[in-house]
Amino acid sequence: MPKLTDQEFESYLLQIREFTEGTLDAMQKEIEVTNVFPEEFYQKCIKNNLYRASIPEEFGGWGLSETQILRLQEEFSRGPGGMRMHLHYAMDLNWRPLYDFGSEALKKELMPGFQDRTVFTNWAVTEESGGTGADLHTRAVKDGDDYIINGEKYLISHTDCSNYSYITCVTDPDALKDRRLSTFMVPASTPGYELTPMPHMMGCRGSGHSGLKFTNMRVPKKYLLGKEGDGLHISIHSLSVSRVHIAASNLGMCQRMLEISLKRAHDRVTFGKPIIERQAIRMKLADMATYTHALRTMVYDFAKDYEKDPKGEYIEEKAAMCKLFSIHCTKLVGDEMLEIFGGVGYFEDCTYGPTERLYRDSRAMWLEEGTPTVQRITISRQTIAHEGRLKYNI
Ligand SMILES: Cc1cc2nc3c(=O)[nH]c(=O)nc-3n(C[C@H](O)[C@H](O)[C@H](O)COP(=O)(O)OP(=O)(O)OC[C@H]3O[C@@H](n4cnc5c(N)ncnc54)[C@H](O)[C@@H]3O)c2cc1C
Repeated sequence: MPKLTDQEFESYLLQIREFTEGTLDAMQKEIEVTNVFPEEFYQKCIKNNLYRASIPEEFGGWGLSETQILRLQEEFSRGPGGMRMHLHYAMDLNWRPLYDFGSEALKKELMPGFQDRTVFTNWAVTEESGGTGADLHTRAVKDGDDYIINGEKYLISHTDCSNYSYITCVTDPDALKDRRLSTFMVPASTPGYELTPMPHMMGCRGSGHSGLKFTNMRVPKKYLLGKEGDGLHISIHSLSVSRVHIAASNLGMCQRMLEISLKRAHDRVTFGKPIIERQAIRMKLADMATYTHALRTMVYDFAKDYEKDPKGEYIEEKAAMCKLFSIHCTKLVGDEMLEIFGGVGYFEDCTYGPTERLYRDSRAMWLEEGTPTVQRITISRQTIAHEGRLKYNI
């Protein structure tokens, strides 16, 4: 696949904006009720090259740069949250752990399948009985050349459309906390792999959440990523990049909220004047624009760092900062949007855009890939290590 020229890439972004705000927004109406994506959604994503775009060229993808991937992420995040969640995952966490940590043989076997969704994964870390870090309980015990996995996960996205699962398990309960865990990429067809139901979510409908249960699941060693004990490192590294994709998602959402708020403020007349002429409304728009701009600068500063060195010194810290700041942005921008819209913004089918859905969908990003507290724990650890200094791309 030849690389896209700059002009082709810009046209592609426009195509994706039309796709998300047109086709996908319309499709989401039914999904809000059924909570399931129709097959048509996946087919349209394949047709629009959304599974292929971020995959490295050596495995049949377009090999977009990190900056381009984040710009694309921004575009499709203007659409429905469940689809954003699916595509956000497809762009990165879906394939990156295999690409970064899988054996050459496993990569050769499975990487090409990501570009047309013949391979799609879920990321199974969280457990009801423990934290999301070192204190997990799902256990993998070595048995000859295989591992036997037993345990349970919950709150796991994309379980209805995935045929592989990245499962983080304890392989050595007696090891130091950073060597207790290992990550496996397990075929969902393995006997003993089971989905357990979960209730509907507040927003992001259709993103296929369930629990997972593993009963005496026999997994060949070839599915171990990295070495035994690398699990915590694989999680931290893989989530670092993915957290910035959440920040780019918040950015796309903030930009759309700002644009529809501007339109509404021009059109809505009270006491004989469009509300955009009121200083109180302008102050809100100024804050919305400033937060959105600041977030954009952070996200693309990260992209430059990442393009220079994906394992660079500031990657983990800046990624957590991007995610933490981005949720503050969507909070402020979302609140101001609702206030500018007044009562009509609280209803479905608002003619300017899906205000109430954007508001509900945005809340998932508080939790996906770690709460604000967890981001702060990461940032403070790194800030202390770096003695409060960061390197900027200026
Ligand atoms: C929409 C959505 C999609 C998700 N998708 C996935 C997925 O695909 N895969 C997956 O594995 N998980 C997934 N999750 C789970 C998500 O990663 C967790 O919900 C999140 O990391 C928080 O963990 P928890 O729910 O166990 O909260 P808890 O760990 O119960 O935390 C509750 C509160 O306590 C705080 N807290 C916990 N521990 C500490 C501590 N040591 N110090 C200080 N404060 C602490 C937390 O910050 C939080 O405020 C998803 C969640 C949502 C909502």
